[in-house]
Amino acid sequence: MILLTGGAGYIGLHTAAVLVEAGHEVVLFDNFSNSKPAGLKRLEAIIGRAVPCVEGDVRSRQDLDGLFDQYPIGAVVHFAGLKAVGESQAQPLRYYDNNVSGSLALLGAMQRAEVRRIVFSSSATIYGNADSNPIPETAALRPANVYGRSKLMVEDILRDLHAAAPGWSIALLRYFNPVGAHPGGLIGEDPNDIPNNLMPFVTQVAVGRRPELQVFGGDYPTPDGTGVRDYIHVMDLAEGHRAALDWALRDPRELLTANLGTGRGSSVLELVGAFEQASGKAIPHRIVARRAGDVAACWSDPSLARERLGWTATRSLDDMCRDAWNWQRNNPQGFA
Ligand code: NAD
Ligand code: UDP
Repeated sequence: MILLTGGAGYIGLHTAAVLVEAGHEVVLFDNFSNSKPAGLKRLEAIIGRAVPCVEGDVRSRQDLDGLFDQYPIGAVVHFAGLKAVGESQAQPLRYYDNNVSGSLALLGAMQRAEVRRIVFSSSATIYGNADSNPIPETAALRPANVYGRSKLMVEDILRDLHAAAPGWSIALLRYFNPVGAHPGGLIGEDPNDIPNNLMPFVTQVAVGRRPELQVFGGDYPTPDGTGVRDYIHVMDLAEGHRAALDWALRDPRELLTANLGTGRGSSVLELVGAFEQASGKAIPHRIVARRAGDVAACWSDPSLARERLGWTATRSLDDMCRDAWNWQRNNPQGFA
């Protein structure tokens, strides 16, 4: 059985759907600090049966020990954590507590239960302002915010653990920019409050929840002056987790670090154009000042994941826009 911490969240639900369809048994664990139980009902509708979900906090050894005692867990995908960059700058202790202390408690519980296979949700944020693109896994790690530093700290902890206890199989997956939704439109991204990220903001403008998109910066050294990112369809990302789990379940007793991205960069205006095309909706937008802390361009070199995991992203920017729109159109208020 595979434990998905933070399994009720955006990437967790999509990964659960892919894993169950691939024949894995899963158990989800979440404190619902950034997700809703309604998402679980939708997951059940997709896969046609109930999935166990335990409500608990990844910082609680009591919750975790109970979970490992109750279920025959063979590997863990560790999604649980907080992810808003701006909030992390304002609340560093909360972020380090959730992301770092939470990971330490989880690793302690895994050690006690003798479960030594883990796939960890890391982030391209840890590269910070990279010297060049595409970014390989060997690039310098210099995160520019608290969120990114919390991810790098957990990576360091896992590298130290692997050096001391080589029996562990550990995959560090550095995600680029996950967007889109399951093609059925039953699950998707449902941020609380005002979305920080581009795609959910665009979909909320399309559905009338926000008047216009602010494009942060039109004077970057990029082809059209707006920021360039490596957007990856959340279903491709979910399939990347399946590949990483298949790797871990073979007990390679290795630590593998892999970028999950498409290797292609798209600008803000390109994404807006693709979305308008896919949805038939005009997205009113206005170029405003740059957002503090943003880099001009960031895209992955995804070749290591192809070579080591046999995984490549296959879905296009048009697919991402179509599926993001399908989700938002069918669920204007998200899971509410
Ligand atoms: P999400 O917020 O939708 O999902 C995270 C889930 O973890 C939520 O359901 C939340 O309730 C739960 N959670 C948070 N703290 C917890 C705790 N202490 N105990 C138990 N559950 C807790 O976010 P997501 O987009 O699905 O991201 C999943 C992981 O991937 C996160 O670790 C995030 O940092 C990482 N990541 C996300 C992105 C992105 O753009 N979405 C990019 C790179 C990395
Ligand atoms: N962006 C924007 N307006 C928004 C949100 C984001 O112009 O309301 C831009 C942002 O400056 C960046 C890109 O969209 O160039 C992706 O931002 P996002 O926050 O989605 O991801 P990041 O790469 O910053 O983690």
